[in-house]
Amino acid sequence: ATPTAITVGVGRGAQAGVLFKNASALEATAGVTTVIFDKTGTLTEGKPALTDLKPAPGVSEETLLATAASADRPSQHPLAEAIVRGAQDRGLSLSEPEGFESIPGRGVQATVNGRRVLVGNRALMTQAGITLGQAEEEASRLASDGKTAMFVAADGQFLGVIAVADRVRESARAVVTQLQALGVKTAMLTGDNERTAQAVGRQLGLDTVIADVLPEQKAAQVQALQAKGERVAMVGDGVNDAPALAQAEVGIAIGAGTDVAVETADVVLVHSDPAAVAASIVLARRVQRKIR
Ligand code: ADP
Ligand code: MG
Repeated sequence: ATPTAITVGVGRGAQAGVLFKNASALEATAGVTTVIFDKTGTLTEGKPALTDLKPAPGVSEETLLATAASADRPSQHPLAEAIVRGAQDRGLSLSEPEGFESIPGRGVQATVNGRRVLVGNRALMTQAGITLGQAEEEASRLASDGKTAMFVAADGQFLGVIAVADRVRESARAVVTQLQALGVKTAMLTGDNERTAQAVGRQLGLDTVIADVLPEQKAAQVQALQAKGERVAMVGDGVNDAPALAQAEVGIAIGAGTDVAVETADVVLVHSDPAAVAASIVLARRVQRKIR
């Protein structure tokens, strides 16, 4: 495109809350054939709230929640914040955890009142040799409702399931429809489990849902679509989205996302509104047509 058209385009973008970092970002946006969205914090508000407590036999709801919340206290993850807030809202007193460790894409572990506590997904429990029994079905039911179920264990003993739900962003539905009208395919990439992801995918009308993706696999998933000839825009907010943002033809960060995501991206959605993705493609295509 001509320098003038690009300058005008970048300026129009800024007015609409879309920050193109340079001319090539604008040009690459015009050619996008698939948009991949991260789920948590991008398509959803990223502020999940506690919805269900399913303690194992002989365990109280209070013990289940207080144990998980104490272990998850140092975590910055939105799921951890939901658990901690849920415990505080119920007036539970939390303990100070020791030896906190986060396991990306799986959960956390920490010592709470002398017991080694695990909070996280199925993979985390399997890895630690924890038997889930009935809880597997419980978790599946919760996931079918679009909720994220997490398992809790202490010293190898299973304590129960905690579920949280995250509201889908108001404009997420609209942007999927708009992108489809532009002939652009839509996909969702998430570390969350298949059932929860499919439930959210159905709500939004996404073409493809890719679930159970570990943080380090996100970039490879982008690459796989590129190998099929797709020109990919990846939209994300988290630290674990940064490599995928870098791999994509266009990395798009949610403005309210982590610094790493915002720094890595080619385009920043200042108002954290995924609807701006469709607007930026329309704008970029218009700028390109100016010179043809
Ligand atoms: P997303 O890709 O949707 O942003 P993540 O890759 O960060 O999700 O996390 C994947 C899964 O790992 C979560 O759905 C959850 O089950 C588990 N998990 C991750 N971090 C935590 C945490 N701090 N507390 C509990 N569970 C966690
Ligand atoms: Mg995220």
